[in-house]
Amino acid sequence: MELLYRSTRSDGRKVRASEAILKGLAEDGGLYVPESVPVLDKSLQEFSDMSYQETAYEVMKLFLTDFTEEELRGCIEKAYDDKFDTDEIAPLHVADGAYFLELYHGATIAFKDMALSILPHLMTTAARKNQVTDEIVILTATSGDTGKAALAGFAGVPGTRIIVFYPKDGVSPIQERQMVTQKGENVRVVGIRGNFDDAQSGVKELFGDRALADTMARAGLRFSSANSINIGRLVPQIVYYVYACAKLWKAGKLSEGQAVNVVVPTGNFGNILAAYYAKLAGAPIGKLICASNENKVLYDFFQTGTYDRNREFILTASPSMDILISSNLERLIYRITGDNAAETAERMKELSGQGRYTITPGMKEKLEDFRGGYAAQERAALAIRRIYERDGYVLDPHTAVAAAVYEDYRDASADTAVTVIASTASPYKFPRSVMEAIGEECDGRTDLELVDMLSAYSHTPVPRAVEELRSAPVLHNRVCERNEMKETVKEILGLA
Ligand SMILES: *Cc1c(COP(=O)(O)O)cnc(C)c1O
Repeated sequence: MELLYRSTRSDGRKVRASEAILKGLAEDGGLYVPESVPVLDKSLQEFSDMSYQETAYEVMKLFLTDFTEEELRGCIEKAYDDKFDTDEIAPLHVADGAYFLELYHGATIAFKDMALSILPHLMTTAARKNQVTDEIVILTATSGDTGKAALAGFAGVPGTRIIVFYPKDGVSPIQERQMVTQKGENVRVVGIRGNFDDAQSGVKELFGDRALADTMARAGLRFSSANSINIGRLVPQIVYYVYACAKLWKAGKLSEGQAVNVVVPTGNFGNILAAYYAKLAGAPIGKLICASNENKVLYDFFQTGTYDRNREFILTASPSMDILISSNLERLIYRITGDNAAETAERMKELSGQGRYTITPGMKEKLEDFRGGYAAQERAALAIRRIYERDGYVLDPHTAVAAAVYEDYRDASADTAVTVIASTASPYKFPRSVMEAIGEECDGRTDLELVDMLSAYSHTPVPRAVEELRSAPVLHNRVCERNEMKETVKEILGLA
């Protein structure tokens, strides 16, 4: 049976999965949601013998029903290959009484790879299916992780080009090096003299520029977005939760009738929403514990039922969670209104107008499986140090927020359920914060020196993605002003 997608903001036209992937956002500004969440048609026992790729097929086929088996398997094969440094793709590691689901074994050692390594293939397949012959131009503003993962995902994919804008002085030295050394004929990286918001709002303007869209159409080009509200990013993320449950089942850690709690370090609410969809699809998941850093909008929301972005934005050691508007939360709001687009739209209007909205007590009741928690920097650093000293296992600063929240939850609730912590980045991506947390003197040492230190401390080899940075030539050195973005894009696309 075909599964259709509709917007969270109006009951307008329903679209097939491939159209939703091509469009990204619905025309009314809403997010695409499946009309109903499909139910897994394999047992945990059956899943437990599958590879990651087979699991991906069995899960994704339920959501992307207009893709043929051949198309979907083709996308999966191209995505989850030896770009990942382990055949397991998303291995579980036991430490501190929990299972860390390592989502950072892909090309850029952050969890964004899980979805961005397959999105380009889903998108080009979707274009073919919808008779779109234009070349797809991905335009992205990044504060670090997304940009590199998108570059790595789209590099060399026929029928696509990608342009990434980043704040010239607003990303870490390793993150910048990762981007400016990106290979591929179809990729361009541009530094902006400004902050992330400048880059982001500049990109939004370009997406909304009708004249530019017309010029591009005449040249056989069209913009598309790789950001995390695209269902082409959400659906691949459901896979690893099913995979993790099946692996725990196989290892005898989970028995019939038991459920796994999941703790997710959260920013845009994409990763934890995928866990929720996995639960709705029938995976044995219990509590969904949403971990925030100092920017604890979501924690406050789960406590009070009010989402309020009117607060100071705090820069932390877990930058990918420094977010005050968690876009994917809209899909959860839609669900707890009982799939009521008008009510969802109303709250999103309040959010963009007054910066806040409140849900009804009835809606709040439907959030009973969710828990919010937060951990400030010192608390997360303590978790890094404690787990390193106890188990010799090193967490990155994002995962450490989740580990700290988990400890607090376990102590306060006496809930002894098996727990999976989503581990969203390799510690090698943030060697300075990590070595500082462990208690090393970092001043006067370069990030790459700290990488070697981390390797010695953790007895793990330096990942290929970081090793390559030592000698990789810089291929992108273009820098522009905020108001030169449009000209820059036209020049890159040969439209100037
Ligand atoms: C993007 C990211 C997150 C946040 O994930 P969301 O899906 O936006 O909630 C957490 N940790 C790391 C390392 C990330 O890159």
